[in-house]
Amino acid sequence: MGRLDLHLHTTHSDGSLPPAEVLALAQKAGVTALAITDHDITSGIPEAQAAGAQLGIEVIPGVEISSRFGNSELHMLGYCLKWQDPVLTERLMRLRDSRHRRNPQIIERLRALGLDITYEEVRALAGTESVGRPHIARVMMDKGYVASSKEAFDRYLADGKPAHVPRELPEPADAIAWIREAGGVPVLAHPTWVKQNGEALVQLCAQLKAEGLGGIEVHYSTHNPRQTADYLDLAKRLDLLVTGGSDFHGITKPDIEVGIGKGGLSVPEKLLDPLKKAAHA
Ligand code: AMP
Ligand code: ZN
Ligand code: FE
Ligand code: FE
Repeated sequence: MGRLDLHLHTTHSDGSLPPAEVLALAQKAGVTALAITDHDITSGIPEAQAAGAQLGIEVIPGVEISSRFGNSELHMLGYCLKWQDPVLTERLMRLRDSRHRRNPQIIERLRALGLDITYEEVRALAGTESVGRPHIARVMMDKGYVASSKEAFDRYLADGKPAHVPRELPEPADAIAWIREAGGVPVLAHPTWVKQNGEALVQLCAQLKAEGLGGIEVHYSTHNPRQTADYLDLAKRLDLLVTGGSDFHGITKPDIEVGIGKGGLSVPEKLLDPLKKAAHA
C-alpha cells in the first residue's frame, strides 16, 4: 500500500541527509509521492526530482516558510509552486538573509556563555544558504557541549532560553500571499505549534483561509489519534485541504522516520490529487 510524505527536510536546509538519500529512505518506507519542504529554499528540488525519476517516486515542489505569531512562530508549507519563479526566489533570499543577521547574534550569546563556537564553523557544517538553529545545535553536539539537538534547544536555543535571538519574520498573511503568487497552495504546518484549540483555532484558521490558506497538516509525526481527528474535523468544517507529512530532519530529529514518523504516521495517497488541483503552477 502506498503512502505520502509531504513534509521533508534535506541538507539544502536543516536536514542532515541530501535529497537522494531522503528519497531512498522514502522508497523503503513505501512512499509513492513526496514533497521536499526545506526552510526558505527550493534548491533541493531538482536533485530530489532526479532521484524520484530513478526510483519511481513523484516529487512535489515544496517549501516551508516561518512566520510570526505573537511571541511564537507559525509555519506555512507551500506546495506545487513555481519554485523557480524569480519573485519567490528573491523573497526566499531575503528570508535567508534574516537568518544570517540573527545567527551571529546567537553565536555571540553562546560565546558569552563560555562555548567556543564560531559562525564560520556553523556555515561550513551547514553547506547551504538556509542556515538554521539545528546547524548551530549540530556544531554544539560535535564539540561535546550537548549530547543531542534536543538538549541544545532545551538549554540554549529554544524561545526563552539564554541564547535565543528572535529573527525578523513575515506575517502569516505574507507567507500565504507569497506562496499563492508563485502558483502554490499554502498549508498550515504542524498546527499544534500555534497552541490554540477549539474555537480559537477555528477562528485563526478561518482568518488564514480568508487570507488565502488552502489546507492544514492534519497528519503529522507527533499527532495522537485525537489530534488527528480534531484537525480533520476542522479541515472539513472550514473546507480546507488535508495534508500530512513526517517533518523528517535526519539526526536533528532522530526519532522521526521518513513516511512513518514515530511509527504510526500514514498519509493517504488520495490526498495528493486535490492538492495538485488546487495549485496553479
Ligand atoms: P530556525 O529555522 O533557525 O529558527 O530553527 C527552527 C527549526 O529548528 C525548526 O524548524 C525545527 O526544525 C528545529 N527545532 C525547533 N525546535 C526544536 C527542538 N526543540 N529540538 C530540535 N529541533 C528543533
Ligand atoms: Zn527544520
Ligand atoms: Fe516547521
Ligand atoms: Fe519542517
